[in-house]
Amino acid sequence: MNMKTIRFIIYFGIFPALIHAQSFNFSESEIEFSTKWDTLIYRMDSNEGHLKLHTNKWLMCFLHWRPLTPENADVTPEYVREKLITFWGPNMAYFTLKEGEGEMEINGHRAYYVNGDFMGQVDTRFIIWNCEETQRQFIADLNINKLMGTPGIYLELQQMIAETVTCHCDFNQSAEGALTRFYRNDTLKIAFKAPSHWKTSIFETEIWYPEGPSAQSASLWTLSTTSEKQIDILWHKKENELNEKSIQSFFDRAVVENNLNYENIIIDSIYTFDNVFRFKGKYTLVKEDSLKERYSRFSNTHQFVGEAVEISGNIYFLVASIIKIDKVWGLKVDLPPDEKDYKDLLNHAREILNQTNKP
Ligand SMILES: [Zn+2]
Repeated sequence: MNMKTIRFIIYFGIFPALIHAQSFNFSESEIEFSTKWDTLIYRMDSNEGHLKLHTNKWLMCFLHWRPLTPENADVTPEYVREKLITFWGPNMAYFTLKEGEGEMEINGHRAYYVNGDFMGQVDTRFIIWNCEETQRQFIADLNINKLMGTPGIYLELQQMIAETVTCHCDFNQSAEGALTRFYRNDTLKIAFKAPSHWKTSIFETEIWYPEGPSAQSASLWTLSTTSEKQIDILWHKKENELNEKSIQSFFDRAVVENNLNYENIIIDSIYTFDNVFRFKGKYTLVKEDSLKERYSRFSNTHQFVGEAVEISGNIYFLVASIIKIDKVWGLKVDLPPDEKDYKDLLNHAREILNQTNKP
C-alpha cells in the first residue's frame, strides 16, 4: 500500500467536503465523513500489514426551556452573556466569554447569541429567545469539545438545529440537507430537525426538574451516535482457505502479532455472500497503549461490522467500529448507532482499500 495514496485520500478527500460544508449546503454523509481521520497505525511489509484510521468528536446540543416571567422577559445581549456564564451554577463556574455575538430569528422570534469557552476545552454558544405564544424562554446551549478535535462545523450544525426549533404553531416541517431527522414531542410541545445519526433524549435531572420534565420546564440533549469511529484494514498472505474458523483465528492472531488493541472479542454472526465473509460483533478497546490519548473517556466498548476477502493471493480484513456509549455524566443515554452508520463506515473502509495500491 502506498503512503502517498493514503495521504491523498485523507487530506484531499476531506477538505473539499469541508469547504463545501461551510456554505451550509451539504448532505449528511458529506459532513459525517468530512471529519478528520487520523492514521494511528500504518505498517505494510511484504507479508502482512495494518492500517488503522480513527476519528473522534464530541458534541452536546442542549435545548432548555423555562417559564416566561417578568424577571426574564427582557432578552438582551447582556442577559445572554450573563446566562452563558452562570447557567450551570457555581460548580461549573469556568465559562468565559469569547468574541462573536449577534442576533437571529427563530420561529418568528428575535434571538440573541453569544460565544463562550469552558476551561479552554469546549466551545460553547448560547442562543436565547422568548416565546410569548407558549409563555416559555428557550436556551439553546451548544457545545463542541475542541480537545477531542471536534471540527467547528459541528457547532454551526447545532445552530442550524436551533434555527429549526418550532416552539409554537404546527410542527409542520420537512427534512432536508444535513438535517434529515425530525424530533417531535407533543407532551413537551417541541419539535426540531437534526442530523439522522444524532439522537435526542430528555435530560433528566432532579435538581432542575424535581417534578419531572414538562411543556413549561425541561431540557433535551441531542448527541451523536457516531462520535468515535475507527477502521482497521489488515492483510496477510493467504495461507489457508478462508472460512468461518479462520475469521475467529484471524482476530486472535491480529491481537498478538498486529497489536490490535481489542480484547473480549465476541463475533455475533458470520455469513458469506459472493465469496466475501461478513461478520459483526463487539470488543473492548484497550486504551493503555501509546494511542490512549486519542480515544474518548466515555466507553471502552465498540461494536463492529467487518468483512474478509481474498484479493490476488492476499487475505484482507476490514473492521469498521463505532463506540457504544450508554452513560454520560452517570446518566443513561440512548445512543445506539443505526445499521446504516455501520454500513456507511464499512463502505468507507472498502473505498480506502480500493483506492490504495494493494501490496
Ligand atoms: Zn414560539
